[in-house]
Amino acid sequence: MALLDILVYPDPRLRRKASEVSVFDEGLEQFAADMAETMYHAPGVGLAAVQVNDLRRLICVDVSENRDDLRVLVNPRIVEKDGQQEYEEGCLSVPGVYASVTRAEHIRVQAQTISGEPFEFEAEGLLAVCIQHEIDHLDGKVFVDYLSRLKQDRIRKRLVKEYNGQPISASDPAPAASQGAL
Ligand SMILES: [Zn+2]
Repeated sequence: MALLDILVYPDPRLRRKASEVSVFDEGLEQFAADMAETMYHAPGVGLAAVQVNDLRRLICVDVSENRDDLRVLVNPRIVEKDGQQEYEEGCLSVPGVYASVTRAEHIRVQAQTISGEPFEFEAEGLLAVCIQHEIDHLDGKVFVDYLSRLKQDRIRKRLVKEYNGQPISASDPAPAASQGAL
């Protein structure tokens, strides 16, 4: 397994849209394992392929306290949503920044396993937040897009200053601020 570099906002590569996965092979399995390792190492609760500069529609999430409930979703799609919740979100690609975002409280998701089996489930609370946040990444969206222009500008300037467009390398010590980030 290998740790992957994580792109940092406002890297333009975070704006690309991922494509449906149609090849379910060993390479995909390996990639999913690397994604999970990178997410746990960060440590974050979710990671989307776009964040590690890969354009496959694949996300991993684990919102459990014990970090033992990994879900890998290939080609995830929200087919139903209702209600509203506000959550103080963070993001591994926006290190050190947390801000309140309103999303659906309850969602129904269709996805495929890494071997291509379709499945469907319902999610609410933090898991629902996390899945909506990660699917946004697959569509080239970042959570700061939901904030005011002023806040977006401030965040952009701060991260350009700190990271200068460079990804977070796996060999860097994990920034403590990424705890619980999506
Ligand atoms: Zn994120």
